[in-house]
Amino acid sequence: MTRDADPPRGRGRRRPDSAPCPCCASAVAGSPAFVHPAVPVLLNVLAPTEEAARRAPARRLELVDCPTCGAVFNRAFDGVPYGPDYFVDPTRSARYRQHLDDVSDRLAARMERSPTFSVVDVGAGQGSFLAHLAGRLGTRVARAHGFDPAFRAGQAQLPDNVGVTAARLDAAGAAALDFPVDVVVTRHVLEHVAAPVPFLASLRESLAAPFLLLVETPNVAHSLEHGLLHDFCYEHCTMLGETALAEVLGRAGYDHVQVGRAFGGEYLLAFAAAPGARPAAPRPTPPDAGVPRAVPTRLADVARRFVPEHRDRLRHARARGPIALWGAAGKGALFVHLVDPDRELVSTVVDIHPNKHGMFLPGTGHRIVSPEEARRRTVRTVVVANATYVDEVAALCDAMELRADIECVGNRPFTRTARGRP
Ligand SMILES: [Zn+2]
Repeated sequence: MTRDADPPRGRGRRRPDSAPCPCCASAVAGSPAFVHPAVPVLLNVLAPTEEAARRAPARRLELVDCPTCGAVFNRAFDGVPYGPDYFVDPTRSARYRQHLDDVSDRLAARMERSPTFSVVDVGAGQGSFLAHLAGRLGTRVARAHGFDPAFRAGQAQLPDNVGVTAARLDAAGAAALDFPVDVVVTRHVLEHVAAPVPFLASLRESLAAPFLLLVETPNVAHSLEHGLLHDFCYEHCTMLGETALAEVLGRAGYDHVQVGRAFGGEYLLAFAAAPGARPAAPRPTPPDAGVPRAVPTRLADVARRFVPEHRDRLRHARARGPIALWGAAGKGALFVHLVDPDRELVSTVVDIHPNKHGMFLPGTGHRIVSPEEARRRTVRTVVVANATYVDEVAALCDAMELRADIECVGNRPFTRTARGRP
């Protein structure tokens, strides 16, 4: 999934220190909960050499949490230069495909009165969700079309009724659709958008309403509850919880907003109705200052503990033998950047995706290897960057006899001592 959503990316859009919350518009003042002077701008652009990885562009992270709606945003966000080398593909994971089944089934249930329906995906990446949806729901999906400027046509394999335009959704792209749109999907886009209300409103304006909107985005409450500072990467400039997402959808003119959790609580899945032709009716009033906090503000607490506690855990593990971090995507890359910037503790990074093997993580320059190579290197501890995948990682380690202790990043440590070790 590649982000096509944020209108012009580039400099000059830095949020001022007194910026209102981008989700609920209430005033947010005071010191940021967490500041890092330089984090890699793009964690999902891997480098071919260690030197190139260490030179990856980095910018300031200045995380602020809104006391009214609970959103967390990067006040120093200055746009992201997405290009064709941006690579995200979680679909090799069975756990992730299970999640796509769940999203597909929930959408089908919402459309139960329509024997068939058509779908537009904004920020479709390589079209993998639309292809999954068409495979899961069969003939119920009449037509499906995605928009993403980083779509690589030569590398995509899509069913006949699924297409992707390698461009942002705009008026011309919307006009070129040769079918009426029943459902608009935008998954893992909103967290990359500095101004989420105008973005969601623009979908209503580009595509002929009425339609059902499906939004999927990380759940900031999950990141805070589990102590996951490494979820707050530079790209994720707007992290929302249930209250903030409902607020954003309402202010963008959507009705019948329902926000639920998905993927073990890690993601939010919202459905909302884009009403038929009528003037946009964004709610202009910021919430009252006295409104209770939607999500307890604990980012500062998470931020204070994260690095020292994980460094301590890694030091203990390192004393027993080599450590491999499992997961060479955004979470893994930011975790080592925060906790092991000089590569003193984590020996190697493991990923199941063959495109990543032999590449280097932006920032720290940790090398990425296959699970098989990790086994050959007699890794003693595997640290899973995203605990949602831990059962899958543990099963894979068992199957290939990679006898390592398994731990997870976060404040609820899962620890499994290696099976079969003498
Ligand atoms: Zn807010």
